[in-house]
Amino acid sequence: MDEFSLIGRYFAGLCEADDSIALGIGDDCAQLRVPPGQDLVVSIDTLVEGTHFLPGSDPGRLASRLLGAAVSDLAAMGAEPAWFTLALTLPEADEGWVAGFASQLGRSARDFGIRLVGGDTTRGPLTLTVQVHGWVPAGRGLHRRGAAAGDLVCVTGTLGDSRGGLECQLHPEKGVDAALMERFFAPQPRLDCGRRIAPYASACIDISDGLLADLGHVLEASGVGARIERRQLPLSPALLAFCGEQQARDWALCGGEDFELCFTVPAAHWPKLQQALAGCGVPVTRIGEILPADAGLQLLDAGAPCALPGTGYNHFVSAGGGADKE
Ligand code: ADP
Ligand code: MG
Repeated sequence: MDEFSLIGRYFAGLCEADDSIALGIGDDCAQLRVPPGQDLVVSIDTLVEGTHFLPGSDPGRLASRLLGAAVSDLAAMGAEPAWFTLALTLPEADEGWVAGFASQLGRSARDFGIRLVGGDTTRGPLTLTVQVHGWVPAGRGLHRRGAAAGDLVCVTGTLGDSRGGLECQLHPEKGVDAALMERFFAPQPRLDCGRRIAPYASACIDISDGLLADLGHVLEASGVGARIERRQLPLSPALLAFCGEQQARDWALCGGEDFELCFTVPAAHWPKLQQALAGCGVPVTRIGEILPADAGLQLLDAGAPCALPGTGYNHFVSAGGGADKE
């Protein structure tokens, strides 16, 4: 099956008509319309076989992970999702693989309210890239910079579940929990939360590399420190049952790919934020507070200082130290 029939059969149908799409899949470019008064926001994410997933991984699971992770960046900006493009590099035109990938990609796209408007299809080592586009009110949007001393540090949902799901795959002999696996394979970007908190939050990031690593980015961008209380980290019953409280708290701090939001909010905005979040169905938990820069990142356990466990994943950290940006 050639490139064009593959695109026509499996991907063209995912480009659902929409007022914002003047021209979709099939021409040299897509032609798109950002509503007046909105800024375009853009982010791109890649999954490489052997680096981000094991050879032989289920194509449908890859599709939901790929799109979920990318759309999570839109959630972290408080953005409205609009369109995405897909660059597919495939070792061969395996129609069964493409059919499984495309049908789940379509389901996830509909769930997240985002439409496929173009892409590129090439032959080579299995590599999946999506670029997502959305919009925020002009000049607004949630950024990593903006946290100030005294702000509360909050997270959505529960932490560490995806790391638990990874453990189920690495050591299935120790037990497998379906809910944790689901958190790993089908991240649910917190789009609704992001839009609700945007008017009140001072800074925000989505948790892809682990709470400590990603909160660290907020602290660096904002020029502040923070204190986090281990006992306040929100844990799911599934994770607690799977690995016990100590391991669960470590994974909540350092495990990647939860795709929850970590945000800061001035204490004076807390009551309004509570109102804005009413009925959104995702818990939001206060886990600490922002401090002046010289405080660094401090971890407490029931009020007593404790050591920071190793932080999140970074592609270019070498044995000799010296981390590059991922
Ligand atoms: P060009 O050679 O002009 O780059 P292509 O032949 O690569 O165009 O693509 C033809 C059309 O199909 C374009 O509209 C492109 O966006 C779309 N397309 C190609 N690959 C994909 C894909 N994997 N998913 C969605 N659309 C795709
Ligand atoms: Mg091309």
